[in-house]
Amino acid sequence: MINLLMFGPPGAGKGTQAQLLAAQFRLRHLSTGDIFRSEMGQGTELGRAARTYIEKGMLVPDEITVGMLRGYLKPDPAFRGFILDGFPRTIAQAEALDRLLGEWDSGITRVFSLEVPDEELKKRLRQRALTSGRSDDADENVIEHRLEVYRKETLPLKAYYARQGLLEEVKGVGSIEEIFSDICNRIRQLGI
Ligand code: AMP
Repeated sequence: MINLLMFGPPGAGKGTQAQLLAAQFRLRHLSTGDIFRSEMGQGTELGRAARTYIEKGMLVPDEITVGMLRGYLKPDPAFRGFILDGFPRTIAQAEALDRLLGEWDSGITRVFSLEVPDEELKKRLRQRALTSGRSDDADENVIEHRLEVYRKETLPLKAYYARQGLLEEVKGVGSIEEIFSDICNRIRQLGI
């Protein structure tokens, strides 16, 4: 299996790139944010539980998030593996992911970290708010809080994956096509 992680702060372009890469390399794209939004839209119990955190720009608790992902992370012969975006966001989630993939004698192949300056992120999130319909994009304070949560809880994962030799930093500023082509080249260099 080939299992890729798209890593980076809110607004870095993880979802956009993950979608393109999933199609290019026949990977199953899983975005925990998308799954939560779909559950919220359907008004499920999980969606209602997640909403209280998401609207405040907080992380949904690890037990809920990992429990949800577990249901999706099953090998599927139609795909060569997974590309995850927005997960993991804490060290505990990363450890849980290692265990989940370990159950399939698999692991993480590469982590691509999209590097984008804070000011550019805020600009993109404000722009996205105009079309996304996401309440967590529409409020400046919630955006600030999401960036702070990223720095405190998610950023330490870079060191976690760097220690394992899995981390590749990618310039996340430029056109979607340029960034996509950069990551495609890096994946091809892995010989997959
Ligand atoms: P995203 O679409 O990735 O920006 O996620 C939107 C929101 O969903 C986040 O701000 C969190 O509240 C929640 N969320 C998504 N993924 C996770 C995760 N791995 N752990 C905790 N909360 C998450």
